[in-house]
Amino acid sequence: MLGKTYTYSRLGMYCNIVEVEVDIKKGLPSIMVTGLLSQEVKESKERVRPAILNSGLDFPLKRMTINLAPAETIKMGSHYDLSIAVAVLKALGAIDEKDKRIAYFGELNLSGEIKWIRGILPMVLEAINSGFEKIYIPEENYYEVSYLKKDNIIPVSSISDLIDKLNSDTHINFLEYKVKEDNIKYDDYEDIMGQQEMVDGFTICAAGNHNMLLIGPPGAGKTMGASRLPSIMPDLMEEEILEINKIYSIASFSQNEQWITKRPFRTPHNSASSRAVIGGGIKVLPGEISLAHKGILFLDEFLEFRSDSLQALRTVIEKKEVYISLRNGCAVYPADFLLVAASNPCHCGFYETEGGICSCSMAEIKKYRRKLKNPLTDRIDLQVKVERINFKSLTQGQKNQSSKEIKKKVLIARNIQKERYKNEKFSVNSQIPPEKVSTYCRLESGGAKILEKFMEDNLLTARACHKILRIARTNADLAESDLIRISDLEKALKYRFLDLEAL
Ligand SMILES: [Zn+2]
Repeated sequence: MLGKTYTYSRLGMYCNIVEVEVDIKKGLPSIMVTGLLSQEVKESKERVRPAILNSGLDFPLKRMTINLAPAETIKMGSHYDLSIAVAVLKALGAIDEKDKRIAYFGELNLSGEIKWIRGILPMVLEAINSGFEKIYIPEENYYEVSYLKKDNIIPVSSISDLIDKLNSDTHINFLEYKVKEDNIKYDDYEDIMGQQEMVDGFTICAAGNHNMLLIGPPGAGKTMGASRLPSIMPDLMEEEILEINKIYSIASFSQNEQWITKRPFRTPHNSASSRAVIGGGIKVLPGEISLAHKGILFLDEFLEFRSDSLQALRTVIEKKEVYISLRNGCAVYPADFLLVAASNPCHCGFYETEGGICSCSMAEIKKYRRKLKNPLTDRIDLQVKVERINFKSLTQGQKNQSSKEIKKKVLIARNIQKERYKNEKFSVNSQIPPEKVSTYCRLESGGAKILEKFMEDNLLTARACHKILRIARTNADLAESDLIRISDLEKALKYRFLDLEAL
């Protein structure tokens, strides 16, 4: 007697079809499960038997072999229980599937109830794309897929409920489930008094998708500024929303039953382990860098982060995804975020601060500033100096533009870039490759001389020169100018102040 069902294996974001076969023969009673299984899948047989018996069905004591194919892919997670149970029931003749292609996902408890599983969304999407006619999932997971509005995804609460639904001839209507969209409301730049240079920095950052380094004394409003960045970024596109929710479905952050529609803003603490920042662990979960996908990763006091996290970040920034190596494969998570790193200007935090007294020695300051010029900051375009706000500008200072107004400018600049790079593999200024900088960053006459002098005076590398030109390009786009004017270039030089320091 043979029974066969389908489910999916998941490693990182990649899902593969798994064929579950059950063979029941006469012989000494035993259950053997094969197919490169992790501990929780091996334990599955201990759950499936009582779950079937406690659902009032028969489970004869016979020789049973369960195989999960292909044997080459590792099977992790508890969602195989349901497909194994159905394959057993099919082998015993207790279930008759009317549709040909059905996929099952769900963990069983001993009483036969079907429980919540991790990462349902990427697996269900893969099953839909592969043409499965019906997909049975735990009722407790339904909110994660209800946004897809597919009536071939059927929520089930127990084995008995599943059998009822499999046997029912009537079409099961799409369960109307109120999707709760995230109600995150990001604060407005309008609420910040003064700090014009910082707000301008964030505008450039959002317009050209430039990573950013903020340097300023404690309490200068670095966090306040960064947390408002999502409010001026372009809205997410449908496929981006889906990708973010896939990651959150795996991280199981969506357990608060919300569908994420806004750009995430993640602020890991500097004491976080590199697993928490980069991802991994026994369950191979996505880290903060993936939870910040398509959003902002804000690292406050970034020099205090573990050095292995910072080192890993360097590669992730370039590749825009993270590879987590395992004994039996490699998990990949997307990690395309905008990095905003913040730091004090010196160890005590008050170097060159108006009204503050720095207690560091010159040697300490030099050491600290040298640390600021590390391989990670080398991948950051914008360097923004944030000053402590004094009482006068706090009470009488100018109000900033509202986020809505800034966003309008950002969107115009983004559209200019999209049009300009329509035949390229990139779409924003921060991604112009070195060999194309001269094509796309044409300077107004006289501009080249200024840039040359700046480079010679400060002994800059070609890499730094390209960064300046990319920022200048964004400045020109924000001003809707085709040519990079001298004023755009000078403004860009202001945002490279660390280059001026000979340390
Ligand atoms: Zn100091």
